[in-house]
Amino acid sequence: MKRREEMTFLERIYIVEVLRGLGITFGKLIRNFTLHLLHSLGVAKNVPAAASIQYPNERRPYPPRFRGRHRLTLKDNGDIKCTSCFLCATACPARCIYIEAAEHEDPNIEKFPHRYEIDTLLCIYCGYCVEACPVDAIRMDTNIHPEVYPPDPRRFIEDKEVLMERSRELEDFGPHYLYELHMKKMQELEKDPFKSTPGA
Ligand code: SF4
Ligand code: SF4
Repeated sequence: MKRREEMTFLERIYIVEVLRGLGITFGKLIRNFTLHLLHSLGVAKNVPAAASIQYPNERRPYPPRFRGRHRLTLKDNGDIKCTSCFLCATACPARCIYIEAAEHEDPNIEKFPHRYEIDTLLCIYCGYCVEACPVDAIRMDTNIHPEVYPPDPRRFIEDKEVLMERSRELEDFGPHYLYELHMKKMQELEKDPFKSTPGA
């Protein structure tokens, strides 16, 4: 379509256009305010009150390839799968994986991670650690996004137990459970940002 170069007289004096803009703004304001009011009364909930996503009460669905928070996978007997080979830590461009290997009491297992930590504040969620792991011991398929504002900043560093527990929860209760748990914590923090909540 050819763009019109010249403005009309009414456009040049701006007043009509300004009033038109204000009309659109106030129209949206009244519409959204009315819908928010109806939603709080439990009416017309299927009509969105605003174009924006009302996080943390609503969340945009993530694509299937979304790289969520990490978890360390487990063997059938519940032991950690990780063999402490350090490939993930070597591949990590942010240098945010810290591993301390130890000898296993079972002579058939060469070593295991006595300590395994990810500093999620440094992590750039690139997924290289997952790609590098030769035994599928680390995954990012949890569908939950990084901690945003935990009451205790030490929770940004996720240790072996936290990462293993995430695998257990995913296996026992499914991805929806992790999602709901995460959303509940976010909603509680939204109401009271200084409240201390246990666990990650
Ligand atoms: S996702 Fe990337 S930055 Fe984060 S721990 Fe894995 S390799 Fe490191
Ligand atoms: S998570 Fe995988 S790559 Fe990282 S140390 Fe363990 S076995 Fe090696």
